[in-house]
Amino acid sequence: QLDPLPALTPEFLSVLNKVCEQCYTDFAPDELEMGVRELILKDLETFIRRQLPAARLQLFGSSKNGFGFKQSDLDICMVLEGQESINDVDCIALIESLARLLRKHSGVKNVLPITTAKVPIVKFYHAQTGLEGDISLYNTLALHNTRLLASYAAIDRRVKVLCYVMKVFAKMCDIGDASRGSLSSYAYTLMALFFLQQRNPPVIPVLQEIYDGQKKPELLVDGWNVYFYEDLKALSGRWPQVGRNTETVGELWLGLLRFYTEEFDFREHVVCIRQHARLTTFNKQWTSKYIVIEDPFDLNHNLGAGLSRKMTNFIMKAFINGRRVFGSPLQAVPPVYPSLMEYF
Ligand code: ATP
Ligand code: MG
Repeated sequence: QLDPLPALTPEFLSVLNKVCEQCYTDFAPDELEMGVRELILKDLETFIRRQLPAARLQLFGSSKNGFGFKQSDLDICMVLEGQESINDVDCIALIESLARLLRKHSGVKNVLPITTAKVPIVKFYHAQTGLEGDISLYNTLALHNTRLLASYAAIDRRVKVLCYVMKVFAKMCDIGDASRGSLSSYAYTLMALFFLQQRNPPVIPVLQEIYDGQKKPELLVDGWNVYFYEDLKALSGRWPQVGRNTETVGELWLGLLRFYTEEFDFREHVVCIRQHARLTTFNKQWTSKYIVIEDPFDLNHNLGAGLSRKMTNFIMKAFINGRRVFGSPLQAVPPVYPSLMEYF
């Protein structure tokens, strides 16, 4: 029941492409800003280690995956050197003592331990930069999925730009905040990567399906195989489709909106970036949910599991509106853009 889209002129596609590129140049942090993140990390680590000498801190998420905004939060993972893992009880106790400790740091404000979440964290606000941050413990799989996303971002510039546009779109439509019942940025990034893998010809390969030798290597972390092909310099020899897709980011963006509104059958299929063959919701026994997004490593984790039916409809409507707005030259896309600034 979607309205047909008008034929797209080269002029319109060129405007659309400019909007996408602008989105990237306006929101991507520069090297200086990335450096500041590392400095905050070092400062916090030094501070924490005065009390907890074994503590080691590492950035993950968009500070590291190539899809960060100037204002993205600082996702930090802490481990204790010499300790492999942590049980739930110790994890909550450590989060609470970490919060007490951070309250004594003059540069951070609004320290808040959240121990009821699936992944317990301490939230904080870094006053000097205005950045929000959270520290989780032994969030090892997140470090690996950050590396996986960073590899995809490094394959082709269009991946980076498109994932930015996707995240801006999600924030602008108010559908990109998991703590308020929608989906996380991470989930939207997975949706964009899946689209780029399924595009014909594909823009990116499935790195988890490429390997030397007969059998996929096994690198187990928390019981899950985190292997993926990381030697991007050698990728062209392993992936024959390299360079075949020559679409602009603008075309891909409209392609993505059309893909998720016209082609992809959410009832039947799973958004799954670890294999090229379509995975069905039936295979996964995840038929009770409409938007099903499988984590690339933790295969029991459906990122759409927490969505209510109402929120699912709200998200789908945002995509349908997006398809109409970005696919209709008469509605003039550029005027929509400046208002995006308010969201950051
Ligand atoms: P933003 O720029 O909006 O902060 P981000 O890429 O950092 O985007 P977040 O949603 O902050 O995305 O997530 C940071 C990291 O936390 C992700 O890279 C992922 O490793 C992990 N993560 C986030 N949400 C989930 C989730 N629902 N399930 C599993 N891991 C998640
Ligand atoms: Mg983040």
